Amino acid sequence: MNYKKSRYNVNVRTETGVRLFNARTGAIVELSCTDPLFPKFEESWRRETFQLSDHEWFPPLEDGKFIVPEGTQEIPEYIASFNARQATKDRMSLIVLPTEQCNFRCVYCYETFQKPSMSEENQAALKKYISKTMEQVRGFMIEWFGGEPLLGIDVIRDISTHAVAAARQHNASYDSSITTNGYLLTPEVFEEAISEWKISRYQITIDGPRDFHNGRRVLESGGHTYDRIISNLQYMAKSDHPELMYIVRMNVDRDNLRTVPEFAGIVKDIVGDDRRARFYVRPTWGESKFDLLTNFETRSLRKQIIEVCNELGLYLYDSDLFLNPALGMCYAADPRSLVIGPDGSVYKCTSAFDLPENLVGRLTSEGTIKLNQEHFSLWVESGIEKYPQCRRCAVLPICNSAHCPKIEVTRSKLGNRDNHPVCPPYKDQIKMFVGGALQEKFD
Ligand code: SF4
Ligand code: SF4
Repeated sequence: MNYKKSRYNVNVRTETGVRLFNARTGAIVELSCTDPLFPKFEESWRRETFQLSDHEWFPPLEDGKFIVPEGTQEIPEYIASFNARQATKDRMSLIVLPTEQCNFRCVYCYETFQKPSMSEENQAALKKYISKTMEQVRGFMIEWFGGEPLLGIDVIRDISTHAVAAARQHNASYDSSITTNGYLLTPEVFEEAISEWKISRYQITIDGPRDFHNGRRVLESGGHTYDRIISNLQYMAKSDHPELMYIVRMNVDRDNLRTVPEFAGIVKDIVGDDRRARFYVRPTWGESKFDLLTNFETRSLRKQIIEVCNELGLYLYDSDLFLNPALGMCYAADPRSLVIGPDGSVYKCTSAFDLPENLVGRLTSEGTIKLNQEHFSLWVESGIEKYPQCRRCAVLPICNSAHCPKIEVTRSKLGNRDNHPVCPPYKDQIKMFVGGALQEKFD
């Protein structure tokens, strides 16, 4: 049988050889130019098609789908698998806001802190919804978000306890994560969260070394927050929970840009060689009292952070995200993902609560979700059918033409008929992440 190269390959020349990434499978292979196989690889890789004998010396090419049988129609095959995935009903993900209140007043925050904690009635309704849904799915996931979700710790405790029991009763898998500022994540709370509430993934934002962080992420009452968060993080890093994964996120703009390498060193000192830890550098977006980074600055930041993390031996969450076919698409584009507000409002996107189209439904007291189909479908329509550029794109399986549905919803609201998709910034940076040694070095 003849084989051809996959259209989803991203090939990068490195200083020591070549590295290949396949956006459909997420596989990465590396071949050093000192490897005796390298000349053979170079020669065969220049050809359009191969015989099996041309590549059987290097099984990862076929295993990682870097090469596919010549007759393979990769685009329609991929679109069919994407549509099947979008139509699946065997899993459900909720992002739940136990409260919209926050104990911090970060200088760049977009939230309005309007709604208090979830009432007992809404908690009861959500528990009914969880029970009913668990009967029908194989996997259920809750991400706790806010505000600061730990200000609604009683809500988290009540609903998590119910969800863990319902999953056991219905033989479904249950997974949970939290995005928190880390201030209230004391050792006691962390131990209860991971052991009892099955919250195994934590994203904690720290905005750089002490002085920078304290100037940006301040308590509502005005106090400093750095030392307490760091102490909570240190406990987590020393804890003995193999299922734990934790991400230290740093929001970066012009103000703290220059502190990124120093802060990466601080994080490394805390997490050591902990393979459960990730460092995540996120350019600030939206409104901020500081200047936002330009695309050029973002690109050089990413380049720098790859180098710094390689040198330190620190895992970078950015590469997990951008080289992962399961993570590049926004959850708002997933029909099986909903955001539940404290008052029972149902949304798709966590950063557009004021956008009327983002209100896609309401949780009823009977434990069902009444959807506004017109609003809901705006978020889950991928641009794959609409944009021919997306169908031809090498990173389609990562982005799925749905990296930020809010952009599309806002564009169509404004009557924009532009026939060009808005690509994610990571499209231009993907070679940088493939070329960065992170995956090879740490796996
Ligand atoms: S939006 Fe851009 S990056 Fe995403 S699939 Fe379409 S062309 Fe590719
Ligand atoms: S739709 Fe866009 S803004 Fe909303 S959560 Fe997704 S990526 Fe963020």
